[in-house]
Amino acid sequence: MGAWHLPAFVALSLVLAACAGSMHELPLISQDDVLHASDEIAAAPELHTVRRNTGQNLALVQRASARLQNATFALCNQAGHSPCQFEVVFDPSDEVNAYASGTDRIVIYDGLIKYLATEDEVAAVIAHEMGHHIAGHIEKAQDNASAGAVVSAILYTAVIAAATGGNVDPDVFNSGLNSSAQIGASIGQLSYSKEHEREADYIAAYLLARAGYDLGRARGLWVQLTKSSGNMQTDMFDTHPSGPDRLAAWDIAVAEVTASDDLLPEMK
Ligand SMILES: [Zn+2]
Repeated sequence: MGAWHLPAFVALSLVLAACAGSMHELPLISQDDVLHASDEIAAAPELHTVRRNTGQNLALVQRASARLQNATFALCNQAGHSPCQFEVVFDPSDEVNAYASGTDRIVIYDGLIKYLATEDEVAAVIAHEMGHHIAGHIEKAQDNASAGAVVSAILYTAVIAAATGGNVDPDVFNSGLNSSAQIGASIGQLSYSKEHEREADYIAAYLLARAGYDLGRARGLWVQLTKSSGNMQTDMFDTHPSGPDRLAAWDIAVAEVTASDDLLPEMK
């Protein structure tokens, strides 16, 4: 990070902190909860592949997607999300990945599914990605990236103008401007990801319950993928060394879902 990046970073952090936030009331976790989750993850067996072929994995994705689609309408309604028509794309390649993009589009790779033990875990991945859409994270991430890029570019211009008195080669100026905007954009996206991951997990717990999945079995996903965090490129666990806090929050969310009369998440 060069000298001019420091004020830019501080300003970006302030701007992003001001607009960060989830639309749902997320479970509060204690330090103790995180420590317990951490011990459990450390003691869990290493991730291994499950004996199923690509056709069977595709069938699992199709069945889970259909069950979850029916479970989404009440939550979409509550969050003001439309159209609430999810397109779940199965990619047969070996990449260990899943992500949400565009308008209600979800991509899930065979390379990830082959590590998932049950349909409950497959459904948990899809429900998590649906959660990103329902909470409007795709648009927010783009807005944040744009806001980060703009703030960075403005600061770059101001710093260069002050340093050179306005006498700067335009080509040099423009290449610096572009890279400052890119750095700003990536800071913008990263600043949001942690709370968004938590919110997508929270929504997933309600979707899975509504679709009749076993929340105890789905929990295996958080244990296993957290253990492998850093080795995998999934949207769910790649943006930060994620982990024990997500598992701890999952358990609290499940207790909340189990006690819920209407199976609707808490909004802020
Ligand atoms: Zn995610």
